Amino acid sequence: MGEIIDGRLLADKMQARLKEEVEAIVASGGTRPGLVVIQVGANPASSVYVRNKENSAIKVGLHSQVDRLGAETTETELLNLIEEYNNDPKFHGILVQLPLPSHINEDKILDAIHPDKDVDGFHPVNMGNLFVGTPTKIPCTPYGIMKMFEAYNIDLNGKNAVVIGRSNIVGKPIGALMMAENATVTTAHSRTKDLAKVAAQADILVVAIGRAKMVDASFVKEGAVVIDVGMNHDENGKLCGDVDFASVEPKASYITPVPKGVGPMTITMLITQAVETALGRKIDFTGILG
Ligand code: NDP
Repeated sequence: MGEIIDGRLLADKMQARLKEEVEAIVASGGTRPGLVVIQVGANPASSVYVRNKENSAIKVGLHSQVDRLGAETTETELLNLIEEYNNDPKFHGILVQLPLPSHINEDKILDAIHPDKDVDGFHPVNMGNLFVGTPTKIPCTPYGIMKMFEAYNIDLNGKNAVVIGRSNIVGKPIGALMMAENATVTTAHSRTKDLAKVAAQADILVVAIGRAKMVDASFVKEGAVVIDVGMNHDENGKLCGDVDFASVEPKASYITPVPKGVGPMTITMLITQAVETALGRKIDFTGILG
């Protein structure tokens, strides 16, 4: 039976630690770390994500601001706003919620955020730093997964890791991060042949596909660590992952649930990177679960 990697518990402990760091900055006369989140339009899923980010930012004591802009906002208006925040010392992190309306070029917007304030870790400079082995800001979901490995003492050295999914925000960066920890990484995707067979080679299986419960026990080697990034809705409208938890959990040594797995860690790493920008150093969360 797999041990549950409790993303909610870990995120709560890390957020308590972040609150201490924030209050220490303020107590020593520093500027309260600030995060601005910009949403363009009213995509309902985006509104939920933005609200969750705002709540977490407030919980750890950040100076939190959310700009909710109309769907008619032009690319130039958005670029000008980002430039304003790039130069505003009150904000250590700038996040533009994706997706943007189709008349705005997302790449152009992400490129406009100063790399030091790019708390999502999507700027090409930050991506480049990650892939040359000198990570600065790291995409939050993969960063959160690495913190889970650290907190649960899951050693990647020499392990076979398989990632299903090759997106820029999850699949590619988690592969780079695990390789940096000396895992042998295979990245699989929709064109991979014999996917279940490839996945079943994994000591560590990271699944980021976006297909409800697609990965069942036939994809999983006995004793594998299974990280489920997926956020989908099942036939009853209930939140579920890409992994069929009921069939996989008995085979896994460790497994993340959905909800309360990777999701809370993603937001926590966003806040972490805003606080780290204010501090000018990384925060060491070693031993955070006690
Ligand atoms: P993308 O849609 O950008 O990428 C999905 C990847 O899965 C692609 O590489 C695609 O392959 C691959 N894929 C799709 N179908 C199959 C298949 N049948 N077999 C094998 N591979 C397949 O998704 P994201 O990476 O952005 O997100 C993945 C999931 O994770 C989603 O459910 C998303 O909601 C969730 N998510 C959760 C987060 C969290 O905080 N918990 C954060 C980010 C995402 P190809 O490249 O060949 O098309």
